Amino acid sequence: MSISADEILQVFRECGAILHGHFRLSSGKHSDTYFEKFQILQHPHHVERLCGDLAERFRTEPIDVVVGPTTGGVIIAYEVARQLGTRAIYAEREGDKRVLRRGFTLREGERVLVVDDILTTGGSVREVLEMLEPYRVQVVGVGILVDRTGGQADLGVRLEALLRLSVEAWQPEQCPLCERGEPITEPGSRFLHSA
Ligand SMILES: [Zn+2]
Repeated sequence: MSISADEILQVFRECGAILHGHFRLSSGKHSDTYFEKFQILQHPHHVERLCGDLAERFRTEPIDVVVGPTTGGVIIAYEVARQLGTRAIYAEREGDKRVLRRGFTLREGERVLVVDDILTTGGSVREVLEMLEPYRVQVVGVGILVDRTGGQADLGVRLEALLRLSVEAWQPEQCPLCERGEPITEPGSRFLHSA
């Protein structure tokens, strides 16, 4: 059964996965909202349900393998693959690229679904798509739990997101929170409150 966007938002809130404050994102931009995704990912029953919905959206497509970028994408790829009955592999960071390690291989023509937890700028997913190119696989699409670009990211393939939110992010020199002199936090810090 599919989950409504409201229900997903509710789960994220209940788990304390949506933080409000002043954050430096991994992209370098500043934002007043941060998704502490592991607050969700620590609960297997939530992951099972969310990934079940993602798997459902691609169930009519034949898929051979689900690929996710480290770190959250490992959990998403594993659970989506479990529910689709395919294998799951992981794209690890090497400099500014993604690579397959641990003996993972892809055969030419295999049908690949790319998944990740939160789409902030689309950077990680783009790295995975670039990594896949030389393998000459068929990318079926991209499945994401939360697209915080509000559907603005164009990845050049079918993109399914369980929840789409428009969350503002600013270049540091344009950040209104910096202008107000609010202290910035790196995600993962303890000086945060959830709402
Ligand atoms: Zn700022």
